[in-house]
Amino acid sequence: MQIPWDKIDTVLLDMDGTLLDLNFDNHFWNEFVPLKYAEQNNLSIAEAKDQLKPQFKIMEGQLEWYCLDYWSHKLNLNIAELKQEVSEFITVMPHVMEFLEILLHSTKKVLLVTNAHRDSLNLKMDKTCLQVFFDDIISSHDYGVPKEDFDFWNKLQSGNSFDKERAILIDDSSSVLESARNFGIKYLLFVSKPDSNLPPRYSSDFDYIIDFRDIMSGL
Ligand SMILES: [Mg+2]
Repeated sequence: MQIPWDKIDTVLLDMDGTLLDLNFDNHFWNEFVPLKYAEQNNLSIAEAKDQLKPQFKIMEGQLEWYCLDYWSHKLNLNIAELKQEVSEFITVMPHVMEFLEILLHSTKKVLLVTNAHRDSLNLKMDKTCLQVFFDDIISSHDYGVPKEDFDFWNKLQSGNSFDKERAILIDDSSSVLESARNFGIKYLLFVSKPDSNLPPRYSSDFDYIIDFRDIMSGL
């Protein structure tokens, strides 16, 4: 795919499922948390999963879903500590480093925009050392609204003035891309393979990439 890189001077990048393998988070929430929850409450793992699933489902797309404090309180588990326990599984997606290296040597502004809680974000930056590649790192928790909310983009633009006509957002969430589109961000790309262990998903609404090799030409 040919991205008109000469017409873009701000690159907005999601973290989980875009730069980092979502397999870590999927495994953490779907396997590791149920295991710890089962141990704590004398349940079988299947029972723990049955109890947790609807609780997770109901919070999808809301800021609390990404809030480690919320889940620590709700489940009576230290979620930040548990994440630390399995942090060796945090991995950068293939070809992300090459892509970020090229961006670093370009004149484009590069912003990490994530719904991840600061604790989770810091842990992931510590493990991957990606922070050097960004002009700024924004967690939606700083604004009190998730990226799915139109107001997130307003607040982002006030804090980091950029031209939305000359900006690209790359994200694995179609609802986030939708809200960025409503705000007016001109170039939008859907990441179709956020979890290395799952088959790709395709979008009929957005152009998509399998990995960053697909868009490096002309950069
Ligand atoms: Mg994501």
